[in-house]
Amino acid sequence: MARRKKIYEGKAKILYEGPEPGTIVQYFKDDATAFNAQKKDVIDGKGVLNNRLSEYFMTGLNNIGVPTHFIRRLNMREQLVRSCEIIPLEIIVRNFAAGSFSKRLGIEEGTSLPRPIVEYCYKDDKLGDPLVTEEHIAAFGWASQQDMDDILSLALRVNDFMSGVMMAVGIKLVDFKIEIGRVYDGDFQRLIIADEISPDSCRLWDIETGQKLDKDVFRRDLGSLTDAYTEVARRLGVMPKNATQITRPTLIN
Ligand code: C5P
Repeated sequence: MARRKKIYEGKAKILYEGPEPGTIVQYFKDDATAFNAQKKDVIDGKGVLNNRLSEYFMTGLNNIGVPTHFIRRLNMREQLVRSCEIIPLEIIVRNFAAGSFSKRLGIEEGTSLPRPIVEYCYKDDKLGDPLVTEEHIAAFGWASQQDMDDILSLALRVNDFMSGVMMAVGIKLVDFKIEIGRVYDGDFQRLIIADEISPDSCRLWDIETGQKLDKDVFRRDLGSLTDAYTEVARRLGVMPKNATQITRPTLIN
């Protein structure tokens, strides 16, 4: 059997060359990292859950006309995605204060923001993904003004979609991070949502209890990360009906 070509290995995923030109296989690892990889662990089943959850969110976005890189899930840990040129920005949308935003501005975690606030960080692990402004983005040519208009509109559409989906299952979308890529259709370029959308990249709080159901469980040592992600998957119906008793992720293929 021919060995497939690894294109890139990141903290939580591996990218392999896909079966057709313009495609990539995205493999979800069980590795969890936080604080720019200063804290590391292997969390049994995390990759399987994130593969499923990202499929669920990306499919939903595709269905409402928000373009994403997702093509189809291949197996428990892999999905086929469209290859794209990643814009070197982490786009963060916040509905409630939390995390670095609370620290930076001295605003108590959980404070409702008057409107969704979009922030941009330059994707560079060595620098710890520093916050940048549109001035930096334009000056260094990371994205054009047209790209920035499209990025803002995509980010807010993802926010509306994700907030609604989560609200319907009793979860508050506090904030999230997305990455956006460029694809070329003939002479035209388009922007699409890339990477992943999962509890690794969102803050999700139970509406009633405030319980954290996202990667903060790992960052802040709040209990089992697998249990938290399994609960999100269960509420969204991503888990089979009889899996409510099962703590380890049992997945529908
Ligand atoms: O740490 P901070 O408060 O800036 O994170 C905001 C949101 O972006 C959180 O949901 C976090 O999980 C996500 N994030 C991410 N990857 C990063 C930084 C933040 O997914 N490198």
